[in-house]
Amino acid sequence: MTSQRTRDRLVERLRSKGIQNEKVLEVMRSMPRHLFMDEAMSSRSYEDSALPIGHGQTISQPFIVARMTEVILSRGIPDAVLEVGTGSGYQAAILSQLVPKVYSVERIVALQTQARERYHMLGIHNISLKHSDGSWGWPQHAPYKAIIVTAAPETVPQGLLDQLDIGGIMVIPVGGQQAVQKLLLITREADQFVEEELDAVKFVPLLNGAIS
Ligand code: SAH
Repeated sequence: MTSQRTRDRLVERLRSKGIQNEKVLEVMRSMPRHLFMDEAMSSRSYEDSALPIGHGQTISQPFIVARMTEVILSRGIPDAVLEVGTGSGYQAAILSQLVPKVYSVERIVALQTQARERYHMLGIHNISLKHSDGSWGWPQHAPYKAIIVTAAPETVPQGLLDQLDIGGIMVIPVGGQQAVQKLLLITREADQFVEEELDAVKFVPLLNGAIS
């Protein structure tokens, strides 16, 4: 169920849905998604669907992970990416193979602890994790060339816009609790933010405050 053939099938599906970046496809093929979820769910790891990871949260659908990663790389390779919503740690693990450094913020400490254990087990050393409300970003390492948000706020948090570098991009689902949200690509230009609408998506909502 977690065999190479199953993973190859997933990659073919991502390709047929429009993912073109071969490096992204290769990382999606090699990253063991089944290690980012409960063993009870692992038989479904290479289906192209979001799956529960506890605490009312989900690991994102592989197509969405690949799509957002492709967009993050579309203006060249950023020196670092800020992720809001570590969750299982899967999206950050995919990014860690494609960019030099990933910073990821999560509000539920138990998920962060599990993600840290997974990175240790997989020998991934270029991801730094922080337990906090990610609406505030991670100011110490700002500005960022790329920000990826994997939970949906009602509106784009000002703190994240402030931490985007000039020429930098943010990929973010907007729409909070609504049934369908909009995936936005925001580019910071010298004197304005330019917004482009990508896909209709469904993420868990971005919630306020950090909880232990
Ligand atoms: N990138 C994750 C997706 C997890 S789902 C993965 O690959 O598995 C979204 C995550 O965002 C959840 O873990 C949720 O707890 C977290 N989240 C929601 N609101 C947040 C906030 N304000 N700050 C940080 N994390 C938040």
